[in-house]
Amino acid sequence: MKLQTVPHAGAVFGANAPIGLGGLGGSPDGPLNIVHVFWIAGMSCDGCSIAATAATNPSVEDLLLGRIPNLPKVVLHHPVLNPGAGEELMRPMHAAVEGNLGAPYVVCLEGSVPDDMSFPTGDGYFGAMGWGGFDHESDTEQPNRVTDWLWKLAPGAAAYVAVGTCASWGGIPAAAGNITGSMSLMDFLGKDYRSALGVPVVNIPGCSPVGDNITDTVQAVLLFLQGIGQLPAFDDLGRPKWLFTETVHRHCPKAGYYEEGVFAEEPGDNECLVEIGCWGPVVQCNIVERGAINHMGGCMVAGAACIGCTMPGFPDKYSPFYKAPPGSAISGGISKVYGGGIRRLRRLSMRKLNREPLWDNTGEVPSGWATSHKKPTGTDKAMSYFYKKLQYNNSVNQGKRNKKQPIPQSRNILSK
Ligand code: SF4
Repeated sequence: MKLQTVPHAGAVFGANAPIGLGGLGGSPDGPLNIVHVFWIAGMSCDGCSIAATAATNPSVEDLLLGRIPNLPKVVLHHPVLNPGAGEELMRPMHAAVEGNLGAPYVVCLEGSVPDDMSFPTGDGYFGAMGWGGFDHESDTEQPNRVTDWLWKLAPGAAAYVAVGTCASWGGIPAAAGNITGSMSLMDFLGKDYRSALGVPVVNIPGCSPVGDNITDTVQAVLLFLQGIGQLPAFDDLGRPKWLFTETVHRHCPKAGYYEEGVFAEEPGDNECLVEIGCWGPVVQCNIVERGAINHMGGCMVAGAACIGCTMPGFPDKYSPFYKAPPGSAISGGISKVYGGGIRRLRRLSMRKLNREPLWDNTGEVPSGWATSHKKPTGTDKAMSYFYKKLQYNNSVNQGKRNKKQPIPQSRNILSK
């Protein structure tokens, strides 16, 4: 089945219009004031919508109110958040399909795409928006399938954004057993799909995605459409590179535990969660850097193992959840061996560094919080000797001057 061509789409915004928008087509009158975003839900739980409304940097409100300098105002058409319903919600979508919306549009799909286009005409559907067909002459009272909307809006869209893992990779609806024949937007449109501006499908995975990842990507795409920013970098699966190149593990607050070979026994423990099923070392996601909401929280930060929800293999390739990934026996085992040694060496350094130079001179730690402080043992002193040799090799040990420093006279004043 070929993509429809949209009448007049290029006249407003498209590859055929040579001027405006950084030479990428669009209005001859310069940058745009308005961009429509059509949010469409396929096989979805609405979690991505909830995640988007929790975004703070930028927030949905920032985008809708045009609060970001140089960005066009976003007019969001959302089946749940839209103030208007019914005909009022559907009218702009029909206008977009017919090519007379009068402004460019981006389509965000939440949820996977069911296989209902394979049904004989009029023989049911898995998801629908509005009713009555797409043709003004049509007298049908049947609901309009989501899949028809996706197909009809595709050629005229400035960009097609798959929001969440279901839209990006099929996700939970496409897990083993998949009774709706669900698939990702890329699977549905095929590898040759390009938007009116020549952009392939953009994927923002996550179940649900970090809200900021959604708004940040929309913002970056809009800057590009304004002719201000370059097309942001995407990886070979259409993920924003700046958000999805690094693994969870590299930025995880528990990575230090992993390195020292200390592992949690239960969810919620402080230590690294790899032995109770964390796949972070091989999962591309920025949840621990960006946080779940307002730069706070996120799976590992809250003590929960990473189950790979941003990845194309999710969920089947990560199950059973909460069982240690096969590779972790080797990497975790190795880190237990060398991590144990490193941990002991660090503890020795820490003991030395937890003492003021004055305490070294007086041999006393004036803390009322501990009944006694261990004085450095012979081993400590020997270690310290070699440690200093390495630390000050080819440099000056300013600390030596502390030896000549007079002991403060009002020290330990209460005993005087
Ligand atoms: Fe890596 Fe997971 Fe351990 Fe964090 S909890 S350090 S992501 S294995």
